[in-house]
Amino acid sequence: MIKAACKHERKTSKGRDRKGQQRWKCKDCGVSWTVRPRNPLGDMRISIADAKLALRLLVEGNSIRGTERITGLDKKTACRLLVFFGGKCRVFMDREMRGLNLTHLQFDEQHTTVYKKQARLTVDEKRERHDIGEMFIWTCIDSKTKLMPSFIIGKRSADNARRFLKDVAGRLNMPGPGQADDHNFTKGRFRPIVQISTDGFAAYPEAVDLAFGPYVRYGSIIKEYRNANMVYTPSEMVGTKRTGHRNMEGRELYTINTSHVERLNGTQRLFMKRLNRLTYAFSKKLENLEAAFAMFACYYNWCWRTRTPGNSGQKRPTAAMRIGHPLL
Ligand SMILES: [Zn+2]
Repeated sequence: MIKAACKHERKTSKGRDRKGQQRWKCKDCGVSWTVRPRNPLGDMRISIADAKLALRLLVEGNSIRGTERITGLDKKTACRLLVFFGGKCRVFMDREMRGLNLTHLQFDEQHTTVYKKQARLTVDEKRERHDIGEMFIWTCIDSKTKLMPSFIIGKRSADNARRFLKDVAGRLNMPGPGQADDHNFTKGRFRPIVQISTDGFAAYPEAVDLAFGPYVRYGSIIKEYRNANMVYTPSEMVGTKRTGHRNMEGRELYTINTSHVERLNGTQRLFMKRLNRLTYAFSKKLENLEAAFAMFACYYNWCWRTRTPGNSGQKRPTAAMRIGHPLL
């Protein structure tokens, strides 16, 4: 694209600069300028082919140093590329995930570590730092379309629960202002726009109330396990406790379900080396974790195809296609 330095129309060629880029001169005011092709990698100077390969490796669950070994890029370059591209993914997702119509959102948090384990933090670090130690990836998924509309990363706090629920509510098609006017409010006629299921984390009910008010069907499920503290052995589920919090009662309680979002946690661990437990691949900086997750989120919503239940192994369209996203 040619972008002139002035507003005039008539221009003439003024040769090329040292790098061989075309220069132009305005015929009316004499201003001259160079046409530089926009670098999609910002100020990074690696080739597009190298960048593509590195990003494909990172999005398929390779570590930063593994990417360094395969591509020959330095690990700092791979990391910079991840942060640059992840930032773009985050902006893209934030812009495109709007006006959604979803049916059943399941919320969960996945535990990980940044820089060092929580138990290794000093007293001062525990008090002052929000960006190191144990970290939680807050996600939600629509059980029907497998869309992950948003995520946040932070401590497992009531503040973050409110922040996340408000963010998700802002991405859904909420009812118009007339639905909550005085007349309707007294009659209590509210049509829930979405169902929500969460685990037993105590901050959720208040956060769901704050974000959705009466326009939601909300219940929580607490799973009880036997042998839950034996590591490497699957713990046996001995019972579930389902609680309806809003607009849910009787047999409807059996629809409360967080299994799909728990399955998503496994997919996250599969595609992000930094979530692999008991390895050295854990995140060293919160910024890197956020970039890696933003890239995963875009990949999962726009590229990844889940399979139909059963043994057919048949692939379904991507989540973005299944919600009928306008870009597709
Ligand atoms: Zn001019």
